[in-house]
Amino acid sequence: MSLKVSPFFLLFFFLYIPVAKAARSHDYFQQKANHVIHVRLDDDKHMLHAHITTQYFNNSPDTLHEIYLHLWPNAYSGPKTAFARQRLLHRKTDFHFARDKELGFIDSLNFHVNGRPTTWGLDNMHPDIGIVYLDEPLLPGQTLAISTPFRVKFPSARFSRLGHHGQAYYATQWYPKPAVYDKNGWNAMPYLDQGEFYSNFGDVDVFLTLPKNYVVASSGLVLSQEENDWLDELAMETFIKMGRRQLTDRLEFPPSSDEWKTIHLRQESVHDFAWFADKRYYVLRAKMTLNESGRQVLLSTYFNTLAQQWVKTLDYTAGIIEYMSAELLEYPWGVMSVAQGINSAGAGMEYPALTIIGKTDTDRDLERIIVHEAIHNWFYGIIANNERKYPWLDEGLTTFYEISYLEKKYPGRKFLGDFSGTFLARYFDLAQFDYAEYLNLWYLFKARRNIDQPINLPSEEFTMFNYFAMPYFKAALSFMHLEGYLGREKFSRAMKQFANDWAFAHPDPLDFRRALTEVTDKDLAWFFDDLIATTSKIDYSIKKVEPSGSHNFLVKISNKGQIAAPFSLSGIKGGKLVETNWYEGFEQCQSVIFPKGNYDLIQIDKEKLMPTINRRNHNFWHEKTFPRLNPLEFQLLGSVENPEKMQVFFMPVMGWNQNDGVMGGISFYNSVFPARSTELFIMPMYGTANDRLAGSAWLNKWFFPERGVFQNFKLGLNAKRFGHTPGLNGWSYNRFEAGLKGELMKPAAISTTERHFFVRSMLVNRNIPEVISGVVQARQVNYVINEAGFEYQQNRIINPWRAGVRLEQGVRFLKLSGESRLFIHYRSIQRGVNFRVFAGSFLVKPVGNSQVDYRFRLGAHRGIHDYAFSSTFLGRSASAGTFWGNQIVEADGGFKFPTSVGQTWDWLAAINIQADFPVLPVKAFLDAGTYAGAANAFEGSRAFSWAFGLQLLPVKGILEINFPLAVSKDIEQVAGFTFNNYWEKITFSLYLDQANPFRFLRNLRFRTPHLL
Ligand SMILES: [Zn+2]
Repeated sequence: MSLKVSPFFLLFFFLYIPVAKAARSHDYFQQKANHVIHVRLDDDKHMLHAHITTQYFNNSPDTLHEIYLHLWPNAYSGPKTAFARQRLLHRKTDFHFARDKELGFIDSLNFHVNGRPTTWGLDNMHPDIGIVYLDEPLLPGQTLAISTPFRVKFPSARFSRLGHHGQAYYATQWYPKPAVYDKNGWNAMPYLDQGEFYSNFGDVDVFLTLPKNYVVASSGLVLSQEENDWLDELAMETFIKMGRRQLTDRLEFPPSSDEWKTIHLRQESVHDFAWFADKRYYVLRAKMTLNESGRQVLLSTYFNTLAQQWVKTLDYTAGIIEYMSAELLEYPWGVMSVAQGINSAGAGMEYPALTIIGKTDTDRDLERIIVHEAIHNWFYGIIANNERKYPWLDEGLTTFYEISYLEKKYPGRKFLGDFSGTFLARYFDLAQFDYAEYLNLWYLFKARRNIDQPINLPSEEFTMFNYFAMPYFKAALSFMHLEGYLGREKFSRAMKQFANDWAFAHPDPLDFRRALTEVTDKDLAWFFDDLIATTSKIDYSIKKVEPSGSHNFLVKISNKGQIAAPFSLSGIKGGKLVETNWYEGFEQCQSVIFPKGNYDLIQIDKEKLMPTINRRNHNFWHEKTFPRLNPLEFQLLGSVENPEKMQVFFMPVMGWNQNDGVMGGISFYNSVFPARSTELFIMPMYGTANDRLAGSAWLNKWFFPERGVFQNFKLGLNAKRFGHTPGLNGWSYNRFEAGLKGELMKPAAISTTERHFFVRSMLVNRNIPEVISGVVQARQVNYVINEAGFEYQQNRIINPWRAGVRLEQGVRFLKLSGESRLFIHYRSIQRGVNFRVFAGSFLVKPVGNSQVDYRFRLGAHRGIHDYAFSSTFLGRSASAGTFWGNQIVEADGGFKFPTSVGQTWDWLAAINIQADFPVLPVKAFLDAGTYAGAANAFEGSRAFSWAFGLQLLPVKGILEINFPLAVSKDIEQVAGFTFNNYWEKITFSLYLDQANPFRFLRNLRFRTPHLL
């Protein structure tokens, strides 16, 4: 619809509330809470001084002896709250290290019941939950008034949803609110970042006092005439400036006016009431008329930057209100506001009749987020399920309607918008990438590794990634699947019924299921019991297509998954859809009838509506010799998996080390994103310094059991070959490894505990110098080393630690070692001290000379010590004191000083400490250790050796440079024979594996939640 932006004059806005529905079960009840709040903003101290009176109606059949209240500003009161702990779980340390003045709280509470003082207290576990004890029990059908003064200190807005940024105020979850009492009892819950709300419906009156030049956006209608007139003036001003393109960013806060005002804000039948105050806001207002009832809605938008984007927001709001009013239920409130602001818990956030939107890059983003948040007026605002317990119900449906609205408004628009039309998009198979695929990709990223989670879990049980991937994205896709199967008309009828039955009430998933099955007359067990409630996978594949009579094909389909979900079959010619049929799901193998036609491809789920694990087996290429084989395609670099192709990726590669010199080559690989269970990588290269073949290759097969002992395990084969001595006549080594590596099942998806194990066998083929008749000659040797190890990791973000053991066996030796690491954070900042303890002992040692030096040593490994050729050294055989010879890898005693002191065929123990400097990228290090017979190992040796120095970290995580400052006498004595100057004692570590793109993709952590 088109919408005129025009000044607005206060009209009379009716609230539309449907009457309670017979469809609700006869024992359904809901409580009611009306609030009257007087509040004054102190913008010097960022405080609210307020008083609240809540009329609480007990509509339950139960007698209540206490009332649970949410005092959620206390979530920001310190590092022990549920909110603070959840942030750490999400690896966000900002709140943990917050300064005192950035914290927030609610205090000055003094609860009265019906005007009389009452006893009350805070919950033992959660300071953001309060309990008011009733002297006289509240009988069914009775009402009481709870009143209290309160004071709120705004926390910094950089943490979550309540807060202030300078003199911009975001008052959300700011007043004491009774928890919901329903058929399950009290639903008292602490505030969480990941996890939303559940509150009582009621009417809210807010009398807000603040300096006159604040603009306030709220859930309510402005009932003060003077304020309304002023907002109209501001809207007119903005409107005029808009025409003249004078809406410049307002970043500075003007001084607060000396004059004060009190605004009366009111909203009816809401379960929350938020407001935002900012002196910099531009205002736009317009009214829209609802088609069905002819009622009017005041649309407002508030912003202080990005005016070019924001002037369009009224249209966005109007568009979605019109759509949802027709699709579901007419918009009930007389006002809908959109405000710009800092929202640290996501891109946008919904409140009744009000949303807040954070920074957005494009018009498209802004519209999408406004659309999403505005739809929450229906799934949250009107249909108020317990969002903490069933986030999928509101978020899944909201995301579903968001996509269906945008797809209707912009038919054919691809996920990447304009980029879809570019050469690059076509090249990387992204041109056709649409919303459904985007949703499925999020799902696949976890589902392929079986670390997805059931959609219907409570918020706090999801990992941060899954919180978006499951209740938002997979749920939305599941609704698309359901709609595809039922047909749009039937689905829409069922949703309307559900909305009508449960408007202004608290349905749960069972109520939703009942509404859907009643209207559609279908048993939707596959949807509710499998797709929503489990991590079972959908995985159909086409086996065979053969003619059946003159009009039909018989299509043999096998269900390799665990859900008998309905699916569609399509006949496609030249990429165009010719025919689609839907089929009921089944288990194992069945043949279905599909009408004959002129197709080149018969495909399962052409529209990509199913959350499914593998689409590569959905295709039957009718005219091909091998109809189930997807066409082969070679592609430079890589791209998202294209299920209609057999992709082989390649990339030219360059490398360098001292022995092969500059190496050139090419790499081939089968998998980029999302990960596949079989990974193949081949990288042949050619060394220019030694004219030899070099390179590496691996083949991994991953297993991700659904349940049992293992979270995952990987069978891997790995081969590599590089030079290990320099020059044209240099020698190369060959190394083969076969291994099993895995992780034991985690106690819970969100657990920070990991237990890893590995078993591997390495065969090294290399040359060893041997003096024969006075000439150094190469003698080829082969040796095998077997290793097994186990490591326990506590990967919490603050003070993480890990400990492991390793057994190593080879020709005539067996050695056992243990290593433990602990990082202790400093009290108030992100940095800290790292401790590493190592101890190792030979259980069996070679008698006589060993041709390979397997000894433990105090010093970290340099190239020549890496007898298993496991690490990457750029100068593998360079001697200590030379530049490349001083590359080290942390192993054994880990001394960062290049020393030969402490090489032993017996036992050894050492500790390494690295302490961060508070500001610079510098650490102090201390290495200390001892070994068997240390005191008498050589003339001048000591019982304990140590080295102390500074470590510089120019590229964090990639490069460390160690500058020794002092060493023990024994090390100093040996260094005296070896080194000519100080520079030869400087060592460095290169963590090249960290830059490996494959490792990066596998460990990808998505940082920004897209929506809330
Ligand atoms: Zn949402």
